[in-house]
Amino acid sequence: MFTSINRHSVIVTGAGKGIGRGIALRFGLEGCKLLVVSRKLEGAAAVAEEIVAAGGTAQAFAADVTRQGDMEAMARTAVESFGSIDILCANAGIFPTATLGAMTEADFDVVIGTNLKGTFLSVSACLPAMKAKRFGRIILTSSITGPVTGSPGWSHYGASKAGQLGFMRTAAIELAPYGITVNAILPGSIATDGLAELGDDCIRKMTASVPMRRLGSVTDVANAALFFASAEAAYITGQSLVVDGGQILPESYAALEN
Ligand code: NAP
Repeated sequence: MFTSINRHSVIVTGAGKGIGRGIALRFGLEGCKLLVVSRKLEGAAAVAEEIVAAGGTAQAFAADVTRQGDMEAMARTAVESFGSIDILCANAGIFPTATLGAMTEADFDVVIGTNLKGTFLSVSACLPAMKAKRFGRIILTSSITGPVTGSPGWSHYGASKAGQLGFMRTAAIELAPYGITVNAILPGSIATDGLAELGDDCIRKMTASVPMRRLGSVTDVANAALFFASAEAAYITGQSLVVDGGQILPESYAALEN
């Protein structure tokens, strides 16, 4: 479909499961060299093994996106192993719930620290290699929650995901002269382990609110990442793409009764 990104060096954070795993597998199928990153080595190692078993190139790396030293070591490892960093998918994120009144300062800090500061630290660590090559594709996993919608219990999460877009717009301007694009995917409700933890009742209601009447798959999101990584998207930067089966569209419940 697109110009090949075969042999591109790709880092995916939060790739031990869920959307990150889906992105890593998809880029693996395209012949990219993957650094599969998650906090726990086991998860990342299992995904890297899957890619290698399918004939691809992948290496696992354990790192916490909230730690600057970990992010610098991650970038160093990608360059040492694969020679460059062409694509960064800054995907690691958490979505615990707490309503205002019950939400503690620690609750707020851990969500902002992981989702927003983690984006800053992972992007910053990869910039020297991208700037040296005067090429880069940075793809953030944001969300519809925050930038477009709200949901009780997720004020901290929504702030972190909207914050990623504010970060992205200025980063896109600063990095454009270096041939680096920065774009974001805004997934709706995507079937992942993390989402399953919200419980069956919540999943059922989420599914019913989607015009396509299904949750998204990790491949739906990965395909959008592939587009932003492609040569065909070279002139697109600072933009966001909603991948949600129409979830943000209905004005009311009545709009879904067709
Ligand atoms: P998930 O199934 O819970 O997977 C999250 C991944 O992120 C895991 O590999 C986890 O690694 C990693 N991770 C978490 N904290 C980390 C940290 N501090 N440092 C490094 N890695 C860390 O989540 P998901 O549903 O795939 O979500 C992935 C991204 O998509 C998040 O940014 C989320 O906000 C966004 N998103 C998800 C949905 C959805 O419906 N699922 C919708 C919109 C946006 P370990 O297992 O090793 O801890």
